Amino acid sequence: MGDQGEIRVRFPPSPTGYLHIGGARTAIYNWLYAQKTGGKLILRIEDTDAERSTQESIQGIVDGLRWLGITWEEGPYFQTAYAEEHREAAQRLLKSGHAYKCFCTQEELEHKREEAKRRKEDFHYDGTCRNLSSEEIAKLEAEGRPYVIRFKVPRGPGGVVFEDAVYGVIEKKYRDLEDFVIVRSNGLPLYILSNAVDDIRDRISHVIRGQDHLANTPKQVLIYEALGERLPQFAHMPLTLDPQKRKISKRAHGEVVAVQYYRQRGFLPWALVNFLVLLGWSTSDNREFFSRSELIDAFSLAGINRANSVFDIRKDDPKFFTDPKALSINAHYIRTMPLEELLPYVEAELKAAGLWDPAFAGDKRPWFASTVDLIRSRYHTTNDFADLGRAYFADDFPIDEKVLVKNILKHESLKDWLPLMAERLQSIGEFTAETVEQSIRGLAEELDIKAGILINGARAAVTGQAAGPGLFDVLAAVGKERVVQRLRAVPELFA
Ligand code: GLU
Repeated sequence: MGDQGEIRVRFPPSPTGYLHIGGARTAIYNWLYAQKTGGKLILRIEDTDAERSTQESIQGIVDGLRWLGITWEEGPYFQTAYAEEHREAAQRLLKSGHAYKCFCTQEELEHKREEAKRRKEDFHYDGTCRNLSSEEIAKLEAEGRPYVIRFKVPRGPGGVVFEDAVYGVIEKKYRDLEDFVIVRSNGLPLYILSNAVDDIRDRISHVIRGQDHLANTPKQVLIYEALGERLPQFAHMPLTLDPQKRKISKRAHGEVVAVQYYRQRGFLPWALVNFLVLLGWSTSDNREFFSRSELIDAFSLAGINRANSVFDIRKDDPKFFTDPKALSINAHYIRTMPLEELLPYVEAELKAAGLWDPAFAGDKRPWFASTVDLIRSRYHTTNDFADLGRAYFADDFPIDEKVLVKNILKHESLKDWLPLMAERLQSIGEFTAETVEQSIRGLAEELDIKAGILINGARAAVTGQAAGPGLFDVLAAVGKERVVQRLRAVPELFA
């Protein structure tokens, strides 16, 4: 396992799209393991698919990792830079008799595949070229016949055995493995080879990756052994599925599985890390929330579950647009994180929405901080500060249609009572939650009505919402001038 016990893990994304939550989770597990053990995380961009790899994707992956707070010690390395090394490894395998040149043509293979299908058998390459003599090979090469390089899987009753930190001892019988291709006829090495050769060069001690790669591992174990290298510790993580038990993927689910999407929709990076780590890992007491140091402390490969986890995609629900648990974890952090750490996120939201006033960082700073503190308790995302919280920061804000009807229009008298409230509030000297409460309760008594009618009506008129923090605190936060203005304008709502 690695050299001199040094822990070295890697995150090797293929840059063919955005960083999605599955990839981010893999990166997080590797990062946590490195942090926990004092090891190193290596970022390796597996860009060998020239047609699908893009610079934009590489940038997106790096930005996404940085945003999540994932740090790496080495890289990014680029797999394409090592193509020669991969080919050399294939040459070594040829020389040592662990691989051979296969001249079978596509047509021949296709024909055999068809025949196997007819017999209702799985097609495994039959080893036609496995034992060609050096004369035969020389002749075929002299004819310019193209060839692939295949790995020579041992024949016989045994199998490849390795121990996975999550799935335990795994054995794959030799008879269930075909002589797999490691270099294409155009000379390009295949992922199965390049990935293993890179892990060897990068002295990777622990390969922590998705369970979808478990089928590759026996072949890679054979490559390691044939090259005379020690195996890394493998740890395969369970898959993340959607509620219909489909694998989460960019293709099937679109942007809702992109890390960038969560960033745009008002997720705090740590909340997303906290949510993602729980998709396939848990502590024995099923803890839900972790600070960074708590998570690093608690993380272990032994805590990775074998059962697949479910990501409850709800992209069609505009309010709860994602997994409810993800939202509730985000809400938890919005509610409880140190206010000073939250403010920059709110500032960024307000700026993006055109609601930022430079004074919020100047003389209005105490007001800004206390208002954010007041309203954050009910919010799920930082977007909510600009959407649901718009009335605190702007004069133009929508009043939810249902709320308007239920809390204002259904009570005809509010057309007079709310402007009356405006006049009372106007005359208050010091505009605080206490003085506002006194005034409103006094008015309700005078009118001989329940204060609730005034309170609900005022909340709708001043904030556009039906719910929120205590109304008196809300009015104090919105401020006398704006409150009075909004209550005076209520008759217009009846028009
Ligand atoms: N490039 C591969 C992927 O993105 C890496 C697989 C591995 O971790 O070995 O799936």
